[in-house]
Amino acid sequence: MTSLHVAIVGAGPAGSSAATFLAQQGARVTLLERNRFPRDKICGDGCTPRTLWMLERLGLGALPTSADAAPVDSVYALSPGGVVLEETIPSRLFGGKASVITRQVLDERLVRRAVQAGAELREGVLVDGIERDAHGVLLRCREGEPLRADLVLGCDGSPSVVRRALGAPDFPRHEGAFAVRAYYENVRLSHPRSFAFFWEKELLPAYGWIFPLPDGRANVGLGMRADQLDASEAKLPALLEKFCASPRVAAELAGARRVGKVKGHHLPYGSFSQHTQFDRALLLGDAAGFVNPLTGEGIEFALESGAFAAEAVAEAVAAGDFSARGLSGYARRWETRFRTAFHLNRRLMWAFERPWLLDRVFRTANRSTSVRGELSDILAGEATHISWRFVAEVARGG
Ligand SMILES: Cc1cc2nc3c(=O)[nH]c(=O)nc-3n(C[C@H](O)[C@H](O)[C@H](O)COP(=O)(O)OP(=O)(O)OC[C@H]3O[C@@H](n4cnc5c(N)ncnc54)[C@H](O)[C@@H]3O)c2cc1C
Repeated sequence: MTSLHVAIVGAGPAGSSAATFLAQQGARVTLLERNRFPRDKICGDGCTPRTLWMLERLGLGALPTSADAAPVDSVYALSPGGVVLEETIPSRLFGGKASVITRQVLDERLVRRAVQAGAELREGVLVDGIERDAHGVLLRCREGEPLRADLVLGCDGSPSVVRRALGAPDFPRHEGAFAVRAYYENVRLSHPRSFAFFWEKELLPAYGWIFPLPDGRANVGLGMRADQLDASEAKLPALLEKFCASPRVAAELAGARRVGKVKGHHLPYGSFSQHTQFDRALLLGDAAGFVNPLTGEGIEFALESGAFAAEAVAEAVAAGDFSARGLSGYARRWETRFRTAFHLNRRLMWAFERPWLLDRVFRTANRSTSVRGELSDILAGEATHISWRFVAEVARGG
């Protein structure tokens, strides 16, 4: 690995994770980031149990229990008809511990970890094009000298300059969402250790969340599939206002104050992921579309894709083959781990947009341990199928 030079575009979770694992393997890594840390990233800030497991693997296991993180060990969900579902995150899901950490903190810790492992970080560098030939990759930057490397990893989120330069298609509108979030302070939540999800009848198919942060703060947001948003002609910031004014959410935010602006961003769905390896190039994280279509969570997939990329690059080095075929170990890994869950959750979106069905699922889950367990797996993005028992119990209404 020592003679290999890998250029990584984007120092979010995907880029920093890949940089850490590759530098640990002895590669020379240059991490190019258009912003300077600490920087904000529009997100719900929710770190799932698998995210915490990845942080542990990256040597950041202490972060989720530090003063910078709010501990989470349960899910609190409200259906459109007012059915409440409260469930402790099962310990079989990576110990059942989750967390909420602002991306300003999380991403800085991750990038510092990559630098500590030996990666070189270049901040304030915007990559605006790449060219590949038989000998390597040339990255053009808006300011400064172009960079030559053996391989490039596109970790530049969505939309991705690297994705476009590699000729991968854009995400269709129905294979992605837009979401907005705002921060609140002086919040007194009824469930301060829960990821809280709200499906408000008049806002469907949008759904909203309230995630607790340390020091009485919370991340409040709302998302909707892009094609449905187009069709509704609604504006997400206005929908977020409505969401916050709805009685159940207003009760949670009573006495709280919004700080900063409402900000939004695109989320590309994993159900469209299919173009991820090219000659001398890989796409990771949001640039590849590794986002759970049902929940919008993507940090865990970004981090894990970094580990998969490092393993696949090691195989390509051993074989002396940096073609798409030589890098195919990457697709093999992420497809085994994510693909089925992405497709299942994409199909389940249909059910989560129907108020009567969602009410029924929640009601059934309240009565049935097995349905509740399966629902936890689905929401955590760990389920690969739903059982006939689940379907039968929901059909019977519990
Ligand atoms: C509103 C919202 C809420 C969300 N909530 C959650 C949640 O609660 N939990 C969860 O797990 N996921 C959530 N997600 C998804 C999550 O934010 C992403 O899946 C995750 O950030 C993907 O990480 P990444 O490293 O692939 O990309 P990013 O985090 O987007 O990082 C990309 C990096 O590349 C840099 N960059 C971009 N272009 C260039 C360029 N041309 N040159 C150099 N640098 C460049 C950017 O500045 C950035 O630092 C949410 C997303 C949104 C929009």
